[in-house]
Parts: sequence; C-alpha cells; structure tokens
Amino acid sequence: MWRFEELLPGPPNVSLGEVETPLLPLLRFSERWGIEAHLKDDGMLPGGTFKARGAAIGLNRAVELGAPSIVMPSAGNAGGAWALYAARAGLPITVTMAKSAPEMNQLEVEAAGAELILVDGSIADAGREAKRISEATGAFLASTFNEPYRVEGKKTAWLEIFDRLGDETSMRLPGSIVLPVGGGVAAVAAAKAAREVIELGWAVGAPPLIFGVQSDRCAPIVRAYEQGLTEVHAWDEDPETVAAGLRVPAPSEGDLVLEEVRASGGRMLAVPEDEIVGAVRALASSEGIFACPEGAATFLGAEYLAREAALVEPVVVYNTGAGSKYAAFLSH
Ligand SMILES: *Cc1c(COP(=O)(O)O)cnc(C)c1O
Repeated sequence: MWRFEELLPGPPNVSLGEVETPLLPLLRFSERWGIEAHLKDDGMLPGGTFKARGAAIGLNRAVELGAPSIVMPSAGNAGGAWALYAARAGLPITVTMAKSAPEMNQLEVEAAGAELILVDGSIADAGREAKRISEATGAFLASTFNEPYRVEGKKTAWLEIFDRLGDETSMRLPGSIVLPVGGGVAAVAAAKAAREVIELGWAVGAPPLIFGVQSDRCAPIVRAYEQGLTEVHAWDEDPETVAAGLRVPAPSEGDLVLEEVRASGGRMLAVPEDEIVGAVRALASSEGIFACPEGAATFLGAEYLAREAALVEPVVVYNTGAGSKYAAFLSH
C-alpha cells in the first residue's frame, strides 16, 4: 500500500505488512453475464478486513501529530483494526461499540489490549459515547469522517485496482465499481482515488460508475437516493443485518456518499437481507472466494445490476473482508 506513498499522508512508521490484495477474475459470473468482472479481495489484510487500510494511515498520523490516546466508535471491524494498529504503535485506545456488535470484533479488541466500552443502542449511540470520552479526556477522536486520514488509507484499494487493470505505461479505470456502503468511507475513497489518478494523468478510461450496496434492513442512503433527496435521514427500523459493517443507520456523511454516487452516474441499491448468507455460499462455491457478508451482499448487488444490464465493463466488485471472521452467522 505504501507503493502509493505520494498520494498518502506519510511517512509510514506504523505497519503490519499491508500486502497488495488480489484482484481476481470472477470466472462464473463473467461467463453468466457475458461481462468482464473482477473481485478485489481484501480479506487477507491484517485483522481480516479493509479497515486495516484506514487504520494504518490513521494511526500513523495520530502518532505523528502526538495524540496521547485514541477513542473511536465502531460497528465492529474498524475497532478491531484500530486496536491492533494502536497496539503496534504502543498507543492507548478506547473502542465504543453497540452491545449487538459481533462477538468476534469484541474479542479482537480485547485481545489487542484496547479498552472496550459496550453501549445500549446502535453505532450512533457508540459515537456519542466516544465523543463524550474524547471531550472529557483529550483522546484523539477517530470516528468515521471526523479525521481525514482513513479515507486516504482506503483509497489504496482503488489505486491497486487501477494499477492491476492497466499496463506498464498507465493505470486503467474500471467501467463500474460495486461496493458495500456502511459509513460510506469506501465509496468516498473510490471516487477520490479515481479523481486523483485522472488529475495526475496516470490513468486511461472514463471515471467509473459507482454502485453502492446496502441491506434492505438498513438502507438509509438507498432510501434517500430513491426519494431523490440530497440529505440522508436516519433509518428508523431495527437495523438488523448479518453484514455488521453495513449496520450504520445514521451515517454521518451520508449526503457526501449520495453526492459521489450520483455524480459518478451509478446508483445506490438495497439487496434482500434474506439472500445475503446464500450469497456468501454462492460466491464461495462458484468462485472459491469466501467473502464476508458485506462483500457477499455486494456480489449479490452486482448480480441484480447485471440482470438489469446496468454495468459497464470492466466491473470491479469489492469484498471488504474474510468470511472466516463471520463463522457464527453461517452456522445456522
Ligand atoms: C466497515 C465495513 C464496511 C462498510 O464500509 P464503509 O467504508 O463504512 O462504508 C463494509 N464491509 C466491512 C467488512 C466493513 O468492516
């Protein structure tokens, strides 16, 4: 990831070996729909998810700027990744989570020696608790979009993709990007990465269409998109999804995600919650890729979009984490 140092706040001091992750052709999917499609598999990053990209850059900057300690709310995986990188950096960290956050994430935060505070309610309540702690203790508040660095880290997935799709002389932009949307950092980072390589003259191809996928049980940005709004309102029903990273009922910068997705010419779409676990199995059995439910939901979204002939090739589907982290959901 540090190959793209010029486009990142650096220099790298804290690292857990962020390898370049594979961009795999989706063999059966491409055959079924007659389109060139690839899957970016971020399941093998430290902590098993793409949250490592944001944590690697975020932690670096926190150390560089002299933060005494860190506090952050998390739906699960971000807390795990930041706890690991904070341990590496030797910086104390407090992670706030909803009690309903996956047990695996609670375990990894504790294993990394972070302080874990569980709150009643949702990630929004965890966010309020993190803010309160930051104000009371002076800890650096690393909540989504509150600090600008994790979006920089998450850009690197897209820089790797553009690079792989290209040749020795230039990067190549995909026609369509299909990605999961929780807080929306991945979506904003994809748009920013594409803009930067275009501005630098590093890439050929038009800016990609960006398709953002949510579960129909927690789809605040999809709802705003479908109602033609520019503002995202909180999801008022119980945000019940196995794709825990998508359990963000009130995304703080939902409006920005809407704007980026619309400006790209793509769109937001919700997939049926009841089909997500099946999609984990379908992706594993058809392509050999054991994705997290967020990634499988995204793959499912790509299937729906392909059926509507909405995708421009080459298509890149983003799997944000490893299925093995979610064994608890697949066992029933
Ligand atoms: C956080 C997370 C998401 C959502 O990403 P955002 O950048 O918050 O939209 C998707 N998948 C996994 C595995 C996650 O941990």
